[in-house]
Amino acid sequence: MRSARSANPSQQPPQANKAFFTWAAQKDGTPIEIIGGQGATFLTADGAQWMDLGSMVWNANLGHGHPAMRQAMMAAAERSLVVMPSAVFPDKTLAAERLLDVAPPGLASGKVFLCLSGAEANENAVKIALQVTGKKKIIFRSRSYHGATLGMLAFSGDSRKQGFDVGVSVGVSWEDPYVAGPGPGSLEALIEAQGPDTVAAVMLEGVVGANGVYPPPRSYYRNIRQICDRYGVLFIADEVLSGFGRTGRWFAVDHDGASPDLLTCGKGLTGGYAPGGAVIASGRIARHFDDLPLRCGLTNYAHPLTCAAIAAAIGVYKEEALIPRAARLGEWMKRHLPLWTRKRPFVKDVRGVGLLWAIELNEPDGSKPASVARMKQLARALQSEKIHLHKRDNMVFLAPPLVISEAQLKDGVERLGAAIDSVWSP
Ligand code: PLP
Repeated sequence: MRSARSANPSQQPPQANKAFFTWAAQKDGTPIEIIGGQGATFLTADGAQWMDLGSMVWNANLGHGHPAMRQAMMAAAERSLVVMPSAVFPDKTLAAERLLDVAPPGLASGKVFLCLSGAEANENAVKIALQVTGKKKIIFRSRSYHGATLGMLAFSGDSRKQGFDVGVSVGVSWEDPYVAGPGPGSLEALIEAQGPDTVAAVMLEGVVGANGVYPPPRSYYRNIRQICDRYGVLFIADEVLSGFGRTGRWFAVDHDGASPDLLTCGKGLTGGYAPGGAVIASGRIARHFDDLPLRCGLTNYAHPLTCAAIAAAIGVYKEEALIPRAARLGEWMKRHLPLWTRKRPFVKDVRGVGLLWAIELNEPDGSKPASVARMKQLARALQSEKIHLHKRDNMVFLAPPLVISEAQLKDGVERLGAAIDSVWSP
C-alpha cells in the first residue's frame, strides 16, 4: 500500500492541509502518521516504531492492534446496524451488564447511560444531577479537568478553559487543600457557605490526571461520600482517566471502597477502539427516571460500534487480568522510580499509583521549575527516541497501556531517563 506520507511532498501529513488537529496552532508541530501497532508500541508511516508510554491520549489501555478488539469491531462492522439511541440490541445490553458488573458495589443495582466521550459523560452526569436534585450548583476542584465542552470547561480549573468563560457556569470552584496545597479548603464549609439546598453535586476526578496526578490519601473518598450524604449533595466521580485499571483497580474510588452516586467513564472504556463514554448511575438515581423523562441524549448515543467496543474491552480486561497487572506494574514503579530519581537531583517530585505517574522536573540546579525552553528540548529528545508520552508545564506523565510487558516498562523508563539526561546534563 502506498504510504499517505509518500504521496505528500511536504513533511506534514495530508491532515494538516484539510482537517484540523487539536490543541495546537495548525502550523506548529509535525503530527505523526500512525499506521498500526501492537501492544505498547505503534508504527509510523516513516517506518519508525514508537513506544507508547502515554496510551495515546491516556485511553489506549488495551494497547494497539489487540486481536480480540479487532475481531469484535470487525463483527460489529459486519452487522452494520443503523439504530436510534432508544433502540435495543444485544451488544448494548451486554455493554451495560458488563459495566454494572465491574462498577463499585453501590452502583451494581443501577443503570448505565451510554454516550460518546468523557466530556459528554460528565455533561450527562451533571444534567442528571440537576434533574434529580432540582438544585443548580456543581462544586468542582480548582485543580481539575473534566473535558473540553463549554459546560465542562466551566467546571474545570484547567488552563484550557481560558477564553471560554461565557457565563454558562453554575460551578463553584473548590480549593481542595489536598490537591491545591494548604488553604481553607473544607468541603463542608464550602457547602455551608453556598447553601446545601443550592448544591446539586460535587464532581471530582478519581485521581487528578492531566493537572498533575495527585492520588488521594486513604479514606478521602469515604469522607467525601459521608459529607455528600450529610448535606444531601450527589457525588459524581469522574473516572474518565482514572478508570479501567489505570490506577490498579477498576476505578480509583475502589481503593477506598467508596461508591459515588454517578460515575463517569471514557478513554479506557473502549480502549480507543471506538468513541465511547458512559455514566453509571446508582439504583436510586435510575429509579428517579422510572416515571420522569430522562432529558439527555444525542443522535449517536449507544452506537453499535461503541457498545461492541465496551463489551469486548471489559471482556479483555477480565480475561487478561489487566487490572491486577496494572497494580503489580505500579508496585514496580513505586519501588523503582525513587532509585531512578536519586540519580537525578533535579527531579522535584514523582507521584502516582498503578500505571499513572507524574514526574515533576526542575532546572538542572534545582532552583526553579524546568523552563518552557527546556521542556521543548525534552520533547525533541523524546521525539528522536521515539517515545510518546504526555508533557505539561514542567511535568512528564507515565501512563502506558496496561498490556505493556515488564521488560518494555523498564526499558521505557530507562529511555525516558536517558532523554532527560541528554537535556539536563548534556
Ligand atoms: N475527564 C477527565 C478526568 C479527563 O482526563 C478527560 C480527558 O482528558 C475528560 C474528562 C474528557 O474526555 P474526552 O476527551 O473523551 O471528552
